[in-house]
Amino acid sequence: LVDARGVCKAFGANQVLQGVDFEVQRGEVSCIIGPSGSGKSTFLRTINALESIDAGSLIVRGEQVGYSLRNGRYHQLNDQRMAQFRSAIGMVFQRFNLYGHLNAQENVAAALLHVKKMPVTQANARALEELDRVGLAEHAHKQPHQLSGGQQQRVAIARALAMDPALMLFDEPTSALDPELVDEVLETMRGLARDGMTMVVVTHEIAFAKEVADTLSFFDQGRVIESGTPQAVIDDPNSVRTRSFLDRVR
Ligand code: ATP
Ligand code: MG
Repeated sequence: LVDARGVCKAFGANQVLQGVDFEVQRGEVSCIIGPSGSGKSTFLRTINALESIDAGSLIVRGEQVGYSLRNGRYHQLNDQRMAQFRSAIGMVFQRFNLYGHLNAQENVAAALLHVKKMPVTQANARALEELDRVGLAEHAHKQPHQLSGGQQQRVAIARALAMDPALMLFDEPTSALDPELVDEVLETMRGLARDGMTMVVVTHEIAFAKEVADTLSFFDQGRVIESGTPQAVIDDPNSVRTRSFLDRVR
């Protein structure tokens, strides 16, 4: 579903991605760990084309979103293909970015109404289903400020799920939460993994990664320097850098 080869990206003189190789198969959960500034968020944003790339090949759901290996030319999707492409990829950030003046159900329904052009009653029904899936059906009428951080993050997940994504990207979804709220969000994500959702998760939750991930990749200085089953990477890392990172976060 995601196939990245040698993906490079610079911001000015700052070479943030220096040849990322990364693969995710359909139905897999792939976790990414690594030090701050190693390019994890930037790479995640290249997957849904929020960030362009300077070199390398990136194929997501069969769409070439980077340079073609065949002719070396940059492959730009037209606006319609891009809108379609993005709507098939759900993204959940550290900060939940809900609309403050809308209740939970309206937050989830918003993209269904405006992007999918779904009729109101249908969008509301679908929104309620998704809120139920993340355990928040009885909170549907609350506004974000009436919900805990964990509940707000679950609304953000429901909002992404409502779009029927083929792929869900999570960028440190629990790192802005109070410790006691982390588990409810991880539990929601475990549920998605059990349901077979394809997920790429940037996280510092090593125990979660070990339990849920099919593959774990360690980012360092804009590259994946180690990748494999979470057991292999966590319990027996090949590289000194992975080992010292894990020693720091454990
Ligand atoms: P963290 O764990 O702190 O979230 P990260 O691994 O996600 O770190 P990135 O956010 O991808 O790291 O950032 C990698 C580098 O790219 C940093 O040096 C950052 O300053 C730089 N960077 C990221 N986005 C931009 C941007 N839009 N413009 C300029 N520089 C950027
Ligand atoms: Mg980041």
